[in-house]
This record gives sequence, structure tokens and C-alpha cells, in this order.
Amino acid sequence: MTTNEHAPAMRPCRNCKGTGSVGWFRSVGPGKTERGENPCPACEGRGELVVRDRGQAEGTQATIHSLDAVMGNWSQAVRKWWVDEPAPYAQHPLAVRLSWVEPRKRTRRSIVVYRDTKYVLVATPDGVTVYDSRADVPCDMDEFESERQRFADRPAFRTTHL
Ligand SMILES: [Zn+2]
Repeated sequence: MTTNEHAPAMRPCRNCKGTGSVGWFRSVGPGKTERGENPCPACEGRGELVVRDRGQAEGTQATIHSLDAVMGNWSQAVRKWWVDEPAPYAQHPLAVRLSWVEPRKRTRRSIVVYRDTKYVLVATPDGVTVYDSRADVPCDMDEFESERQRFADRPAFRTTHL
């Protein structure tokens, strides 16, 4: 048996536990439910996902950079950060949640990246990028750039944490 070294490594999809479908049910009357199955949105019914190099998925002292074509960019120093496994979020088939704790604070904050107009990078104090959300949620950079141009002259609002 020959193996194709160019075939990407695959892993079971966690969202559907490798089955490729997710069950749903809805109420159709008192005490009555209707059940069905839909293709899993995370793996599009394949039951498996390509193993991507997710980079580092957690760490301590770092800076988070949010690059947002619509809302503007911001950066935040953090003392702790972590990235959850990519999963569907609301109506979006694939999203990733990045959480962090700011210096001298205990409250967890987080951001969910799910669309083509936004991505996040986490860099060490030396400026080395250790996590790039585009490895988990692809960002169409043409779309990103056209949205950025569209909003460049009228920024919605800009939040800056320094
Ligand atoms: Zn799945």
C-alpha cells in the first residue's frame, strides 16, 4: 500500500463527533417533537477536518492584535491568553474564540472571530506572532481589503487599549 505524503492529515470533527451530521429537534405540538439530521456545518458533513498547524494555542505575557477592516484595529497587552477549538458560532459555520486576562485584572475577556473582515494575531513581547486566527478561520484577504477601503473614510468607531 502506498501513502500519499501530500494528503493532508485529518482528524475527527469534534462538533459532530466524526459522524458528519448533527441532530435537531423542534416542538410541533404539545409533547410532540420532530427530529432530523443536518450535515455538520463545521466539517460540511465530512466528519473530519484537516489538521492545521494552529501554532501556539495558549500562553502568558503577550499582545493581542485585532485587525478589523470595519471596526478598526486595536491591540491589548495580556498576562494570559488561550484559544478554544474552532467550532460553529451562531449562524457561522466556523468560528474561533480567543480569551485573555489583562495585566492586574482577573476578569476574562474574549473575542470571537468568524468572518472575513476580521482576524487576530497574538505576539510575544519580542514581536513574534505565535497565533494567527487565519489558521483556524480563513480570512479572505481580498474581501478584508475591500471592506477596509469601504470603511476607511468613515470609521465606525475605534477602541484603543494601550
Ligand atoms: Zn463535523
